[in-house]
Amino acid sequence: MSPMFVPGPVDVAPEVLKQQEKPMIPHRNKDFEAVFQRSAQKAAQLFFTSSRVFIMTNSGSGAQEACVRNLAKERVLATVCGSFSKRWYDVALANGKAADKLEVPMGKAILPEMVAEALQKEKYDLITVVHNETSTGVMNPVKEIAEVVKRISPDTLIAVDAVSSLAGARVEMDAWGLDALFTSSQKAMALPPGLALCAVNDRAMERAKEVPNRGWYFDFLLLEKHRLKDSTPMTPAMSLINALDFQLDRILAEGLENRFARHSAMAKRSQEWAVAKGWSLLAPEGYRSQSLTVVNNPPEFDCAEFNKFVAPLGIRLANGYGDLKGKTFRIAHMGEIQPADLEQLLQKIDEYMLTK
Ligand code: PLP
Repeated sequence: MSPMFVPGPVDVAPEVLKQQEKPMIPHRNKDFEAVFQRSAQKAAQLFFTSSRVFIMTNSGSGAQEACVRNLAKERVLATVCGSFSKRWYDVALANGKAADKLEVPMGKAILPEMVAEALQKEKYDLITVVHNETSTGVMNPVKEIAEVVKRISPDTLIAVDAVSSLAGARVEMDAWGLDALFTSSQKAMALPPGLALCAVNDRAMERAKEVPNRGWYFDFLLLEKHRLKDSTPMTPAMSLINALDFQLDRILAEGLENRFARHSAMAKRSQEWAVAKGWSLLAPEGYRSQSLTVVNNPPEFDCAEFNKFVAPLGIRLANGYGDLKGKTFRIAHMGEIQPADLEQLLQKIDEYMLTK
């Protein structure tokens, strides 16, 4: 496998890709219902939850939309620290919700005291938080934010996007008191794109009953009715779910603790390597992502040129995202990436810099 150090779609192991070749069977059939049921049960372990996990045939942005459609009756507080948390704010507005932004500059984290201040000023029925802001490499202190929400505004539901961290970092839905938590298949889960996994607790399901115009495709109550029969209202992406079932076994065989440790060791190594070169990191210490490292571009570094330099090896590095394109580069170390792959990348960057 030629490692792609991009934060999704990531490399998928050949044996996982192969699962998608299984022949089609009717989806309302005991054999497929069994795959669906065991996949959801295994997935719950990654979320550290005993709540339901919806296996959704859509990408992570659909789960952002589902959360605002189902959980926001009146007003949303959208915490914004980069492009993907900003997207969630836009999604709330696009769905006709009244939303306020709690925004920090790109590269900064959302701090619990900021959330406390916002909740003291205004009443919100939903707060949205991105755990791992993929555009900046900031990992927000979700546990501490959730503690503040519970203390100051216990009726406010907490929805968390862990699209680029779940399965690569610990996010404990039940212990941290999160009401909805989701990820996309194409990041640390190391699956092809096309699925979102979204865990929703009973409190959030009760709230959904009070929210009008939840739509159809993303209606949690409709999804639940079918989930209880190990199915979905619409035709699910069966080939991807076969791959999910298999990949979850691989993830659990590695062991969650080992997997988190592997991701965090690669983050530490990337950070130390960059700092040793005299380069700076966008995210402040204490808030750095476990699954990707965002480095401020030194003047001589050109990500597109570097990618041409390593193209014969099949290696690919991610440029900065959105406004940060050309100003940062992103080393995604998630999914199937191993420490030895990372060493190869760092060595190639060192070699490339010698050409400057
Ligand atoms: N949230 C975060 C943190 C992301 O990194 C991304 C995509 O990169 C999204 C949401 C959107 O997910 P998707 O592309 O699966 O719709």
